[in-house]
Amino acid sequence: MKIIEIEPTNHCNLRCVMCHNSFVNYKPSLFNIEWLKRINSENSIIKISSIFEPLIHPEIDKIIEYFAENNNKIILTTNLTLLSPNLLKILKKFEENIYSITVSIDSTKAEIYNSIRRGADFNITIKNRKLLRNFLSETYNRVNSVLMKKNYNFIIDDIEFFNKIGINELGLIFITIRDYLMFNENLYDIKNNLFKKLNEAIEYVIENNLNISVRCPYFKYSPIPNIYTQEMSKDVPDYIPKGINCSAIEKQVKIFADGIVQLCYQ
Ligand code: SF4
Repeated sequence: MKIIEIEPTNHCNLRCVMCHNSFVNYKPSLFNIEWLKRINSENSIIKISSIFEPLIHPEIDKIIEYFAENNNKIILTTNLTLLSPNLLKILKKFEENIYSITVSIDSTKAEIYNSIRRGADFNITIKNRKLLRNFLSETYNRVNSVLMKKNYNFIIDDIEFFNKIGINELGLIFITIRDYLMFNENLYDIKNNLFKKLNEAIEYVIENNLNISVRCPYFKYSPIPNIYTQEMSKDVPDYIPKGINCSAIEKQVKIFADGIVQLCYQ
């Protein structure tokens, strides 16, 4: 089995404070759906987007339909601000092929979310996230959150909220500062407090026996897993199916919206 990653577009409808899309003006391109027939994709993992917004492609439903019909497992990452009724219909029809959906939601406080995800409306994103969660019962539901100064104090509130609406996994990553105006959001000077909050977050999930799993690069260094060895050894499903642990050239390829193919970019 191999991984094929597609970027249906090279732009985004939002201008998030930490994103390259807010600082670079790419010449807009759209993936040409005629190229789909040239991709030998059967029985593959298809990752749809990781650095741009796929749902702004006017034929995203056809792209998903094509890969689903060819017996692939689809992993979709989106800001979920643009969910059309037709896309919803296609996702439901091919539910068995939609392996996981990751939505970027950095806060469950409307004001903070709207100030990070510039151009998005918190209420619409949450409505769409809940809708997909309830509509696709077989799909693994993820949320990604970029931690920065304005949101890291509320990690436990966010975990509670996402657990309540049935999200399977919350992925926490650290902000990349791309502009001096964002420097006040950097985490370096509060790192000890941040690690304390992250330790509290793991303990909260374990002590309250929550169904959500929380991932963060810091957890490799946290002392908490050594305290709760039994609880931490539970088998948690991975959003990339097991067996796909190699990024070697023959296993992974990325196709950009302008048709450029990149082998093993990791
Ligand atoms: S939604 Fe994602 S791709 Fe779009 S600007 Fe925000 S971080 Fe970047």
